[in-house]
Amino acid sequence: MALVVQKYGGTSVATAERIKHVATRIKRRAASGDSVVAVVSAMGDTTDELIALAHQIADRPHAREMDVLLSTGETQSSALMVMALHAIGVDAISLSGAQAGMRTDSVHRNARILAIEPQRVREEVERGRVVIVAGFQGLTETMDVATIGRGGSDTTAVAFAAALGAQCEIFTDVDGVYTADPRVVPEARKLKDITYEEMLELASKGAKVMAPRAVELGSVYNIPILVASSFSEEPGTLIHGGVDMEGFNRVRGIAHDLDVAKITVRHVPDRPGIAAEIFAPLADARLSVDTIVQNASEEQLTDITFTLAKGDLPRALTHVRVVAEQIGAAEVIADERMGKVSIVGTGIQSAPGYAARMFKALSDAGINIEIISTSEIRITCIVPEERVADAVRALHRAFELEKAEPAELTG
Ligand code: ASP
Ligand code: MG
Repeated sequence: MALVVQKYGGTSVATAERIKHVATRIKRRAASGDSVVAVVSAMGDTTDELIALAHQIADRPHAREMDVLLSTGETQSSALMVMALHAIGVDAISLSGAQAGMRTDSVHRNARILAIEPQRVREEVERGRVVIVAGFQGLTETMDVATIGRGGSDTTAVAFAAALGAQCEIFTDVDGVYTADPRVVPEARKLKDITYEEMLELASKGAKVMAPRAVELGSVYNIPILVASSFSEEPGTLIHGGVDMEGFNRVRGIAHDLDVAKITVRHVPDRPGIAAEIFAPLADARLSVDTIVQNASEEQLTDITFTLAKGDLPRALTHVRVVAEQIGAAEVIADERMGKVSIVGTGIQSAPGYAARMFKALSDAGINIEIISTSEIRITCIVPEERVADAVRALHRAFELEKAEPAELTG
């Protein structure tokens, strides 16, 4: 008999019917002899709706009160899930994040998990109950409710799996991790497994399957994470830390992101401390900057370009314009119609030629690359937003991702 922590995302619990459906799945799993702890997200778009509602009341709602409000989304679905379980004869109990032992710091709306104290969950499991935990929320040292950032129910599930020494299964509206978004590339293939590093790169570069923080946590505690659909019985994708035999020397997947804006500060004096002067105010304003490039300088002047989420552009520009003026930069240019396409695979670090192949594929498709950035296992190109889908398709073809991997052919 195993202990399993499952997570059901917002789409999977969006309606009463779907909650009942998930309850039958949980019942089946419990009947097989496993103990089930399930973390639930808020129903459908509840979190977005609550945020919108708050903004109808106040321009800048107080972060602590936002957390009181947002945590109700998950509280609601946890209680409804337990009612659905009771209705089909399953002994179950709902626990808020606080009751389940999730302790966080007090950075409201983006709190870090400090510890999981899972005694109550354990006791309920030992009583033979299914435990439904409200995701995305915890309790601070001052006994206030804090939420842990968007997509936080994934992170909640992985954290509880680590604390309980349990298996972890994330049920969502897609049936696994694909070589690319199947809505963009119809021949995209589902991967049987993928390493934490690869998944982290894909997730942080736009693949929406799982919250990057949850993958990171899984990697730190070495918790294998199964991602599968709550709507089907398809096998899903296992994210794990093993050596990636299947994908050896291959690109595993392509991620894309349409939410990219670009800021260029032109003719910045090239002296020590300038980059710090530009980026410190952005960090202070909690604006997260993605790809940064600084050109080689000519006559002691250089250009600095960086990207960030579109929604952050207006605020970032306010800060950057002030600094640009102070340091005597020539001008600040912004473009919010950018996108990003990345190839990811552990093979990239050991074999040369991936970058050249990527650039060739994009140039053959007539796509202009604006910025290039790399990690050991990823190459990212910033391209015009309207060419992103073409870029993903061109790269999927160029790296032959529609073809089965060697291990799949041998079974
Ligand atoms: N309900 C929260 C959100 O939408 C947490 C989650 O779904 O994981 O971000
Ligand atoms: Mg959600």
